[in-house]
Amino acid sequence: MAQVSLQKCDSYDPERLYELICSSLAGIGFDVRNFSGKTVLIKPNLLVGVGPEKAVTTHPEFFRAAARVVVENRGRAVVCESPAITSLSKALKKTGMADIVEEFGLETADENDSTVLLHEGENQFKRFEISRAAAQADIILSLPKLKTHGITYITGATKNLFGLIPGLQKSRWHMKAPTPESFADFLLDFNEALHTAFEPPKTFIHLMDAVVGMEGEGPGPSGTPRHIGAILAGTDALAVDWVAVKVLGLPLEKVRTITEGFARPCFVSSEKEIEVVGQRPESFGIKDFRPSKNTFFSNMWRGPLATRTVRNLFTEKPVPQEEKCVLCYECLKICPAHAIDKKRGKAKTPSFDHKICIRCYCCAEICPEAAISLKKGSLQWLLPR
Ligand code: SF4
Ligand code: SF4
Repeated sequence: MAQVSLQKCDSYDPERLYELICSSLAGIGFDVRNFSGKTVLIKPNLLVGVGPEKAVTTHPEFFRAAARVVVENRGRAVVCESPAITSLSKALKKTGMADIVEEFGLETADENDSTVLLHEGENQFKRFEISRAAAQADIILSLPKLKTHGITYITGATKNLFGLIPGLQKSRWHMKAPTPESFADFLLDFNEALHTAFEPPKTFIHLMDAVVGMEGEGPGPSGTPRHIGAILAGTDALAVDWVAVKVLGLPLEKVRTITEGFARPCFVSSEKEIEVVGQRPESFGIKDFRPSKNTFFSNMWRGPLATRTVRNLFTEKPVPQEEKCVLCYECLKICPAHAIDKKRGKAKTPSFDHKICIRCYCCAEICPEAAISLKKGSLQWLLPR
């Protein structure tokens, strides 16, 4: 049985967060004294370096409260994250976490120092490069932000660990696993590898910041902040995500990491094995949460069987908007398919080659100006809703 603590929290008041995080950990049977003498890897979501008001990243006060619990209990706290296109130190500064790192004397992991994680099992993906600091930690304290996602439907506990893979390697995984199905399989394989490849096994704690989450075109700056008012905690990432989706009132069958994850030995095998401690998910009364529109129509048309022509006709294509683009070329840096080039002639935006674009939407996710909109394919209106 996996316990998931679900508590109401209406603000980022530091003291309130601290109390709730302590009681959440107690609720799932984790004694905070277990942090003592352990190397605790704190993994916030720092997708891009933007301010907390955008709800793209774990809120700095949430990060502060979690770090305080570790440090007060004499854990050795190491902050680890590999933002998509910027350095960890820049992302910490822009998100307001750098001062907290200094205040508590936290260590930061070298995001360029990685090691190989091999997963022996009957799975599709077996070899992963991960941060060495993650490989060396005793406890992984993951701090996911609850947001929508165009490919995985939500980004929560299962997906937050993706950030243990160094920088641009993450976008390369979109080439290796280009469909929503294969990407979910990859995430599950990766989670499984993290659980089985180390001896002794690591302890995983997922503390989810769902005080203000994100709806609409998440998980980057194009999404819309949405007050949810929840903090979740658990040691089973799938169970935490399951409860989060129940809180949002979204259909569980859309989240492949949940439906397929039940078959993976490192997670609970059914919802019957999830015990919610604290509030009931329905008590949040959320009935109008907006998922990403991108997940409604066209996931099936992105697959490897779809020809380029079919993809162009039936899937949304990323299109930069002149009025917002500042030509920073962050999109060019992250594109795993090399489908983005510098602007041509008098154009005011980078040049996108939609014939080779694999529709991973990494560019839209990380564009700091939310300047990349998704334009429907010309025959997409034919698809059933
Ligand atoms: S589309 Fe966004 S990421 Fe790309 S150059 Fe313009 S502002 Fe930068
Ligand atoms: S252009 Fe954007 S959506 Fe297309 S492959 Fe590149 S990053 Fe992915």
